[in-house]
Amino acid sequence: MTTTTIERTRHAALIGGESVDPGMTFDDVDPATGEVIAEVARCGPPEIDAAVRAARGAQPAWAERSAADRGGVLRRIADAIRAAAEELARLETLDTGKPLAQARADVAVAARYFDFYAGTIEAFYGDTVPLGSEFFVVIEREPHGVTGHIIPWNYPAQMVGRTIAPALATGNCCVLKPAEEAQLTPLRIGWLALEAGLPAGAFNVVTGFGEEAGAALSSHPGIDHLSFTGSTEVGRLIGKAAAENIVPVTVELGGKSANIVLADADLDRAVPVITRSIIQNAGQTCSAGARLLVEQSLHERIRDEVAERFRGLTVGPGLDDPDLGPLISARQRDRVAALVDTGRSEATLVTGGAAPDGAGLTGGFFFEPTLFDDVPPEATIAREEIFGPVLVMTPFSDVDEAAELADGTDYGLVAGIWTRDVSAAHRLARRVRAGQVFVNGYGAGGGIELPFGGWKNSGHGREKGYEALHSYTRTKAIAISL
Ligand code: NAP
Ligand code: MG
Repeated sequence: MTTTTIERTRHAALIGGESVDPGMTFDDVDPATGEVIAEVARCGPPEIDAAVRAARGAQPAWAERSAADRGGVLRRIADAIRAAAEELARLETLDTGKPLAQARADVAVAARYFDFYAGTIEAFYGDTVPLGSEFFVVIEREPHGVTGHIIPWNYPAQMVGRTIAPALATGNCCVLKPAEEAQLTPLRIGWLALEAGLPAGAFNVVTGFGEEAGAALSSHPGIDHLSFTGSTEVGRLIGKAAAENIVPVTVELGGKSANIVLADADLDRAVPVITRSIIQNAGQTCSAGARLLVEQSLHERIRDEVAERFRGLTVGPGLDDPDLGPLISARQRDRVAALVDTGRSEATLVTGGAAPDGAGLTGGFFFEPTLFDDVPPEATIAREEIFGPVLVMTPFSDVDEAAELADGTDYGLVAGIWTRDVSAAHRLARRVRAGQVFVNGYGAGGGIELPFGGWKNSGHGREKGYEALHSYTRTKAIAISL
């Protein structure tokens, strides 16, 4: 089935539990066909202001409820997401182009975030401090208040779970600005949460453009904490806005993460995972395994095996559930194509390098899985985040060189290490500056439980895992003189 049978829909923003239509809309495009599938509310400063006020109004009562009570609501949201899983997955695929199997997995992960924070919040205790017999000291963890969330288009459903669930669990109320290319699942989850019993105003979804709605949210004086996921460039603007209002900020930015394959690696295990780590979501994943660093003795074998896998991958509309769907937009496809053209003069193109010309693919924003070999570390394609299905391969001669190469970009998000030598793996893991390091794997089943975030231009602050409960709270030390 292709997406042409889908009727155009019109979507208002969700503010204070109500549908709010500012009167202006923008088009949401199906990346598989280039056709407009929905018109979405184009909100600006007035709607952001209304959402912040709605969140402020809801927040004290929400925070006063017991952790178990808030957790109960979060569990019902998880159940509601699961009950609507197929609808949400199809919506996510339509909106972002990703293969249906990926969208189904993403929706399941979104639900798991609500479950995870429903559970952890009940065991999120404060501390006491032993100042001696003259004092009784407790350290409480309090919510910031109203939290602002700006997310990208690559994993909208997962991002709602990742950023909204811990914020709500800890007693904050939220205003979310989804990316202009992908708002349908965040909106739908917003309505599902309301139906599941979340108070009106606790979670507001305000759609619009980054420079309008996004900028209004990040600079709003009523925001007490900002969480941003997106590009380094916009992350800098968000950081400045946070500095202006003196509010804490978590910025999850781009990456150029490397899989490092040492000579003793189990290649039968490594090659399929390395391939998937760049192909997933057509390479539009901040933590994608975008570089492949291989010890000389394995160089040709890995190159040939990865190239063969790339050539066997299917590309098509997400609803047909291929290995790769389209990229999110014509702009993104053109950006990837331009970087690939730069790469042709910097390294050896092994396979791919163009938009596929198969039947039914001409209207969409598709790009072939692409492998470059002998990529010098100073090449543009070795340093810049491409955010497409493009893998750049660089051989190395020893572990020191591997560590230097791995750490040799401005980014530091994730790394993968492949070896049978446990000591070598540990040593190398410690040398790479990245928020997550995987050994003989890449990812850990959704990664909900693992703190996630960057070094260098990949950002700072942590989301996911238990650590997000710290990010969404601040301490208050209460000292009572006895
Ligand atoms: P982006 O352009 O930075 O946009 C991210 C979000 O910021 C969108 O909602 C965008 O709205 C909004 N925005 C844009 N300009 C803004 C402004 N002046 N003020 C406030 N908000 C603004 O990034 P993207 O193109 O959507 O996503 C791709 C990038 O995100 C890649 O670099 C990728 O690595 C990174 N990413 C990082 C992670 C992570 O966890 N580290 C996860 C996913 C993606 P509009 O859509 O309306 O422009
Ligand atoms: Mg879209």
